Amino acid sequence: MKKASVLFILAVIVPSLMLAGLALQSLRHQQLALERQRSLRYEGVAEGIAKEVRAEIAALQDEFAQQVERLLGKREPAELAEDFDARLLETWPLADLGFAVTVDGVVRSPSLLDRPTARRFRLENDPFLCSREDVEVIWNSPKGKSINLTELDAAAAKEREATDKSVFATRAGGPEFPTSSSTVPGKPNAGSALTQFSRVLGEAHEGTFARFLNDRLNLLFWYRSQRDLGQVFGARIRLDRLIERLRPRLHPEAGAADEVAVALRDDGGRTVASAPAGFAADGRPLGAVEIGEVLPHWEIAAFPRDAGAIAGAVTTSRWTVGLLIGLLLVAIGVGGWLIVNDARRQSALARRKTDFVSNVSHELKTPLTSIRLFSEMLAEGRVAEPAKQRQFLQILSAEAARLTRLINNVLDFARLDRGEKRYRMTDCEVCRLVRDTVETYRPHLEAAGFRVELTLPAEPVTVRADPDAIAQVLVNLLSNAEKYSGPRKEVAVILDTERLTSPHPATTSDRARITVLDRGLGVPPGCEQRIFDQFYRAHDSLGSGIPGSGLGLTLARQIARAHGGEVTYAPREGGGSGFHILLPHRPPDAPPSAPASA
Ligand code: ADP
Repeated sequence: MKKASVLFILAVIVPSLMLAGLALQSLRHQQLALERQRSLRYEGVAEGIAKEVRAEIAALQDEFAQQVERLLGKREPAELAEDFDARLLETWPLADLGFAVTVDGVVRSPSLLDRPTARRFRLENDPFLCSREDVEVIWNSPKGKSINLTELDAAAAKEREATDKSVFATRAGGPEFPTSSSTVPGKPNAGSALTQFSRVLGEAHEGTFARFLNDRLNLLFWYRSQRDLGQVFGARIRLDRLIERLRPRLHPEAGAADEVAVALRDDGGRTVASAPAGFAADGRPLGAVEIGEVLPHWEIAAFPRDAGAIAGAVTTSRWTVGLLIGLLLVAIGVGGWLIVNDARRQSALARRKTDFVSNVSHELKTPLTSIRLFSEMLAEGRVAEPAKQRQFLQILSAEAARLTRLINNVLDFARLDRGEKRYRMTDCEVCRLVRDTVETYRPHLEAAGFRVELTLPAEPVTVRADPDAIAQVLVNLLSNAEKYSGPRKEVAVILDTERLTSPHPATTSDRARITVLDRGLGVPPGCEQRIFDQFYRAHDSLGSGIPGSGLGLTLARQIARAHGGEVTYAPREGGGSGFHILLPHRPPDAPPSAPASA
């Protein structure tokens, strides 16, 4: 049994637990893959919008170039440079300041004597614009190249040899080394570096550069006309107006609009615009893409519109799979428990069958020994006294009856087990049946010192039954009363009827009840139901010395049930046992039924 349990655990429980573990792991992987897929999708949406924003800024750059050309009109660029700041502010609302500087590093506009904003701009930017000092800028020159990396690298190598200083050193007038640059001939040039304006200009005609001054982004556009490449016009962009111009570009493409919300976040991570408007872009986005050099450290962040729904879907799927795995484990557990339980029952049954064989052998041997002994004594004429002879013959007949009973029980049990037991059902008068059976058994009981009491009703009681089978049940009960008797050798048999009441008069019926009472050992508590199990013995042969096969009550109950009745046990008040045979009662006025077999 232990071996079977260990085998079961090894063969079923352990692999099931491993499978459940694998299922959980694969669920986790699946979820990670799903999250990755989702974040790629959101990143794609953010990238699409970042492209739109870059395109809008490029369009604004063109707008600025057109603005400069318009202001130039027929004038020479040098002429416009003097009052470019004032003229630009009048016509282009996106700028909060215009500047003009020559490539040789002479700032023409705004004047240092101008408004405070202009003066501050000059103080902050002159060293850079006049190429006197290196400053950290992030630039973008979409058309043409401004810095030749190959030349710079060669110069850098030379410089390193000469000074053994960092390539990022700040030097006035010397070659500059961008920390990052995407300059490739024929491709847009962008990067960030410690550099001077003249290097940012290179050979390009227009571009942007950005600086962080006092932690604030300064975004500047610049442009030089074909008419005079030595004159550069520039504008500092008003970020609030730029944001307004970018706002319409923030909408995700049609397929994603229902699901994705986007936010434009500045270099401090603050949301400056969002779509849908007013969307609270808190927390970590599922996808984020930087806009690039044209708006350094600004990004487009993509969020799920309904974060709760995604979290809900994840939780639901986690619960569903968890529940399924749980159910699977419970099913395996219950199945395992049932199998182990059944195996235990089978092994108990096998043990009881072994006991049964030894009990039956013993039960067969005892009457046979008596029969042989007494018949030999009679045959050899060793008993002369007629009274003694009669007593011996009675013993012989009782022992033969006991043998017959045992063999009948065993045979009947085998028939019932195979479903071959047949009953000859007739309308049978139970008073007579009980009286005949008790009277047949009475001499044997009285010879063993029992006082037998029989109580019958005045009215006949008819049931539809096989009289031999019912007699067999009654004899089994009488035999048990005899076997399990104590010092008080009293047996009472009572026949009466019991009314089964029901709320529906049509279904109200009577039952015939045959009660067999004794004053013996009684059934040990806790065994009241198990005594009806096959081969079960509450009083073990070895322990009690009472022979038995554990089949008598099993048969009695099966026979009663085949008649639509029952055999029950209840301890007798004052000590002893009480067994009841209950049979459906056929009232006297019911039409006689045809004899049949069940
Ligand atoms: P057995 O051949 O062992 O008597 P039964 O099926 O007739 O088999 O009875 C099952 C068990 O029920 C008995 O072993 C005994 O322990 C208990 N039993 C049956 N009848 C009585 C009784 N009248 N008094 C006490 N115990 C009884």
